[in-house]
Amino acid sequence: MSHDCSYTASKFTSYLRALEHYNMHRSHTCGELRLSDKDKTVTLSGWVQRSRDKGGMLWIDLRDRYGITQLFFEEGKTDALIIEEARKLGREFVIKATGKVLERYAKNDNLPTGEIEIAVEKLEILNGSKTPPFTIEDASDGGDDLRMQWRYLDLRRNPLKANLMLRHRIGIETRKYLDSLAFMEVETPYLIKSTPEGARDFVVPSRMNPGQFYALPQSPQTFKQILMVAGYDRYYQIVRCFRDEDLRADRQPEFTQIDCEMAFVEQEDILNTFEGLVRHLFKTVKGIDITSVPRMTYDEAMRLYGNDKPDVRFDMQFQDLGNSMKGKGFAIFDSAESVLGIVAPGCASYTRKQIDELTEWVKRPQIGAKGLVYCLCNEDGTFKSSVDKFYTQEDWKNIAQTSGAKAGDLVLILSGDTNSTRKQLSELRLLMGTKLGLRNPEEFKPLWVVDFPLVEWNEDEKRWFAMHHPFTAPKPEHFGLLETSPGDARANAYDFVLNGVEIGGGSIRIHDRNIQSQMFNLLGFSPEEAQKQFGFLLNAFEYGAPPHGGIAFGFDRLCALFGGAESIRDFIAFPKNNSGRDVMIDAPGTIDQKQLDELSIGLNIK
Ligand code: ASP
Repeated sequence: MSHDCSYTASKFTSYLRALEHYNMHRSHTCGELRLSDKDKTVTLSGWVQRSRDKGGMLWIDLRDRYGITQLFFEEGKTDALIIEEARKLGREFVIKATGKVLERYAKNDNLPTGEIEIAVEKLEILNGSKTPPFTIEDASDGGDDLRMQWRYLDLRRNPLKANLMLRHRIGIETRKYLDSLAFMEVETPYLIKSTPEGARDFVVPSRMNPGQFYALPQSPQTFKQILMVAGYDRYYQIVRCFRDEDLRADRQPEFTQIDCEMAFVEQEDILNTFEGLVRHLFKTVKGIDITSVPRMTYDEAMRLYGNDKPDVRFDMQFQDLGNSMKGKGFAIFDSAESVLGIVAPGCASYTRKQIDELTEWVKRPQIGAKGLVYCLCNEDGTFKSSVDKFYTQEDWKNIAQTSGAKAGDLVLILSGDTNSTRKQLSELRLLMGTKLGLRNPEEFKPLWVVDFPLVEWNEDEKRWFAMHHPFTAPKPEHFGLLETSPGDARANAYDFVLNGVEIGGGSIRIHDRNIQSQMFNLLGFSPEEAQKQFGFLLNAFEYGAPPHGGIAFGFDRLCALFGGAESIRDFIAFPKNNSGRDVMIDAPGTIDQKQLDELSIGLNIK
C-alpha cells in the first residue's frame, strides 16, 4: 500500500544525504538498512521499542517514524561499558547508536530491516522516558481515553502513522490536481461574524470591542463567493471549519474541508472537475481506477433507498408494496401512507429468533418503527409470513413478483408515514447489508446525488430552511415556485456520496442581488435583517458578480474512507472526544477573572 510509512523513508534519506556532513544524529533512518548495506558503519537515532537480554547477548529494537532496526550487543565483543549502559535503557528512551551493519543469524521476514542488525560500538542516551501508560504496539492496549490523553505516545504507533501519512498524501495530491487546473489557494479569515443560518457558531469575544463577538467560520462560504466577485475564478483551500454541534464518530467541532469555488461555470463543469479530483485521488493514492460515477436525483435516492446518501455497494432497493398489500383487511397497512419493503437475498432460512432480533432492532427508539412484517419465501415455493391471517399464498406470490423476491429470500416490510418509513427502512437496509457482508470497505462505489430540494419546512419553527445554504440557486425553471410552492422547487445542488457517506456537497449560487433578497425573504429574514447579516454579500453582488458555484469535501471523512475506517478521529492528529474536549491539553478550560474583565464578560452559570 502506498500510504505506509516507508513512502517518505527514501525521500528523507536523500535529504539526509544532502546534509550528511551536518547531521551528527543519524546517517540513516530506522526503516532503511538492508543486507546490501552490510559492513557499513551507520548512526541511528530513535526510541527504544523493547530490549531482550539473554545474558551474554542483548538486543534492542530501535524505532523512529520510518521503521524499526535491531541493535545488537554481545559480551566479549561489545565494550563492557556500552553493554552496561544498554542494560539501563527503558522503553521509549531516546538514544543514538553507531555501529556496523551485520547480517542477522535469525532473520525476521516481517520487518523490512529484518535481515540485518547493528553491532553497536557507540551508544548515547539523548533522553530518558517514564514508563508509558501503554505499550507502543500496533494493537494498542491503551483504550480510547488513555490514547487521547497521551496522544503523542499513541501517534508513535504504526496505524496512526499510516493514517496521518495517508492524510498527508491526499492533501498533496489534492493540491497537485487543483493546481494543475489553475485553482489558486487563498486563505480566508477565521475570525468572522456570527450568522443565524446553519449550525451553532463558536464565538470569540472581542477585547477591543466590548460586548461584541467574532464567530469562527462554519465554512468560508461567503468569502469564497466574494473571491469570485473579486475575479479569482478558481479558488480552493484546505481549511479548518468550526461547528458547535453534538458529536458523533464522524463529526468533530473543528474539521477540515477541501473548499472550492469556480466562476463562469455550470453545474456540469463542477461535477466533472470534482469527479476528476476523486478519480485522481483514488488513482494516485490507492491505485484504484474509478470507472463510473453515476448520478441519481434526490427524489430517486429517497424513493429507492430512503436516504440522500445511499450506499450503492449493494442493491436491496425499496419496493413500494402499497398497491399489492393495502385493501386486504390489515388495518395497519390500510391506514398507512406508505408500505415499503426490502428483499434480503438468501435469508429465508432466518430463524424465529433472528427475526425477533430484527424486530427488536427496528423498534429501538433510535429507529422508532412500531413493528416489522416479514415473509419467508421458502425454497419449496410456499410463503410464511407474520401476517398470514390477511394474505393468502396467492397474494404473497404476487407480492414476491412485484418486489423481485425469489425462493430463498426474506421480505422485510415497514409502514407508516412516508418520511419516517423511509428513514427506518433505510437503517434496516444498511443493517442487512452489513449482516450479509455486502459493505466491503475496500470496494468503492461513488455517486452524485443531484437536484436537491431548495428548502425544507421545519414544523417546530414553522418556517422554511435552506436545504443546503441560503446562497444556493433554485433551478431557473423553478424561480416561479419560490412564491407559489417553495417545497417543490429544486436546486442546482449536489452531493458526492461514497459508500453511503456524504463526502462532498455544493451548489450553483445565486449571483443576482434580487433573487438573493427573495431567498432571504423566503427564509424569514426581513430586508433589514438580511442587510445586517449579509449586507456585505448583497453589496458585493452589485459590483459585477459572475455566475459561480462550488463544492466542499469533508477532508477528514475522505481520509477515513480511504483508510477503510468509519471514525475520522484516528485521521486527525489531535482530535476532541465526544464531549468536545481535548483531554491531552484539558480544554476547554476556565479563564481567570482578569481575562474575563478585559473581555467585559460576566459569567452566569446555572
Ligand atoms: N460551504 C458549503 C458547506 O460547507 C459547501 C459549498 O456549498 O461549497 O457545506
